[in-house]
Amino acid sequence: MRTTQVLLLSISALLVPAFAQDLPPAHHLPVLDVSSMDKSVDPCVDFFTYSCGGWIRRNPIPPDQSSWSVYGKLQDQNQAQLRGILENAAGLPGEHPAYLQKIGDYYASCMDAKAVEGLGATALQAQLDAIEKLGSKDQLPDLAVNLVYQGALFRFRSDQDYGDSTQVIAEADQGGLGLPDRDYYVKEGAKAEELRQAYVAHVQKMFELLGDKPPVASREAKTVMRIETELARGSMTRVERRTPKNLYHKMTVEEFQRLSPEFSWHAYFTKVGLPELPSLNVETPAFFQKISNVIRKENLGAWKAYLRWHLVHGNARFLSSAFVNEDFNFFGKRMQGSEELQPRWKRCVEDVDSDLGEALGQAYVEKYFSAEAKQQALSMVREIEAAMREDIRSLPWMSPETKESALEKLSAVRNKIGYPDRWRDYSALEIKRGDEMGNVQRARHFEFHRQLAKIGKTVDRLEWGMTPPTVNAEYDDQRVDINFPAGVLQPPLFDPASDAAPNYGDTGGTIGHELTHGFDDEGRQFDVLGNLRNWWTESDGKEFDKRAGCVSEQYSKYVILDDVKINGKLTLGEDVADLGGLLLAYMAWKSHTRDQKLDPIDGLTPEQRFFIGYGQSWCGSVRDEEKRLRATVDPHSPDKYRANGVVTNMPEFQQAFRCKTGAPMAPEKRCRVW
Ligand SMILES: [Zn+2]
Repeated sequence: MRTTQVLLLSISALLVPAFAQDLPPAHHLPVLDVSSMDKSVDPCVDFFTYSCGGWIRRNPIPPDQSSWSVYGKLQDQNQAQLRGILENAAGLPGEHPAYLQKIGDYYASCMDAKAVEGLGATALQAQLDAIEKLGSKDQLPDLAVNLVYQGALFRFRSDQDYGDSTQVIAEADQGGLGLPDRDYYVKEGAKAEELRQAYVAHVQKMFELLGDKPPVASREAKTVMRIETELARGSMTRVERRTPKNLYHKMTVEEFQRLSPEFSWHAYFTKVGLPELPSLNVETPAFFQKISNVIRKENLGAWKAYLRWHLVHGNARFLSSAFVNEDFNFFGKRMQGSEELQPRWKRCVEDVDSDLGEALGQAYVEKYFSAEAKQQALSMVREIEAAMREDIRSLPWMSPETKESALEKLSAVRNKIGYPDRWRDYSALEIKRGDEMGNVQRARHFEFHRQLAKIGKTVDRLEWGMTPPTVNAEYDDQRVDINFPAGVLQPPLFDPASDAAPNYGDTGGTIGHELTHGFDDEGRQFDVLGNLRNWWTESDGKEFDKRAGCVSEQYSKYVILDDVKINGKLTLGEDVADLGGLLLAYMAWKSHTRDQKLDPIDGLTPEQRFFIGYGQSWCGSVRDEEKRLRATVDPHSPDKYRANGVVTNMPEFQQAFRCKTGAPMAPEKRCRVW
């Protein structure tokens, strides 16, 4: 995997899309909105509800959503803007740029519900036939060529070499599960067992939709569950995966073949166009031993069932409504608590973003992201970097030599703001109007081979991982860069017209958050060039762990719902980044406004406005089902604790709101890392 650390979990990448209800066209929302607060709540007792109580009352979770938040609403607004761009491109007559033609044709094909409905499962017929024709387990690599990138068996892609950050190498990783995490297969207890039964029932229904008789479909579903459970047992946990060296095992193809003998890796690599592959990184060796054992143990019929399931599962959202609805009933309703399926246009906008994101993004930034907004964001980044330099220099627990390396790394961080300098070339990807499934399949094929084509070449450090309309941000450990797409640099998260305080509390805090990732428990294992190499002295490492442990302990006590608590080991990196990020933003804001006389606005002091700007960036609510899902898969704490957990540790907050020492948000014992 790329070790990137994002600001928010993108649940849509795991399950069904998580976007929002129809909204009126963009209207200007302030970064700090007094009417979103609940002033009847004491900020020293529950700062989140004080900042967001009004927002939460006014913004119930829409029926097609599993959660609702300031970020979700902004995403919804961006989607409405993208819809306008796509409808325009789809209807455009005559000559226009190729990128507009492609996104227009893709969108029009996706919106053609009648054509999709008419095809039913036959849209997948050729691939279903290929599975049916499988003559022996030795031929699995042939089918894997097209099925792996649709979610079956394992993952294969290219990635930056952990050991040599200038090079791209091949990488094999665990995968092949239908549920969003290995924990779902192995967890004990009545709730977990109930969910597994519902999953098997869902798999059975999907087989029935493919035309299998119920008793056959029932057997097949149990087979799928048996195979996936074995693969889950061989998979690494999310917490184990947070230690990058657990994921670095470079070996030759011969060594890999010995590790995982029942699958012909040479045949697979030849088929995907890499006959001479010298070596690769096997991220999870135990998984590949396991899958080899399962291939030996299970017969050909069982594998056919497993592959058919993954084919239909991976394509359910592009099939006729019977498939779409059954898929939503389990993953959207049962697992996330959403009440309604999203309208077709939203799903189609998301598909274009996923398959042609930089073509759509090009059209988006032309319309919605000014050169001025880019400049202002960039200068805020520079100020936060300056604050971090100052902060590192003054850290009481870090030795001079580690400080020197940290400062060197900080100056090496590349700032990617808004959109890429060079747009991705989609000319080799054929998009045909009226061929929805064909477009989806060709787009996946194109992306898979685009990735593999990098193997053996020098890393392109200018490439972007997120598309420009994305409402999220990330730090990339290996490329050593921060990414702020145009989609997240919009009101009410970022507004150059607002007073500085809430802007720094909100987007400033996010910039600080991403920067500190380069130095947290995960990021600090990568050096200035992005190589997996420890550059900390042992005692500095211990000092860091001690302070980070304080944060982990603090968050582990927070209850998500009934018996579910935060897994402080999973959320450690993000919790530390939230705290460090807001501290740096505070320093940067203070220095930005050093010579200014700041007056209260709406009865709130500048300091209070800084913190409320931060608190209001986390306004939102989450359905219980979704809370459970996130507790398992999300390395971020729930929004309430992203607000309260951070201010609890800041004496600056206690001062701003004159909290009595000992109040819930002003404890005597505080944690501090940065
Ligand atoms: Zn983060």
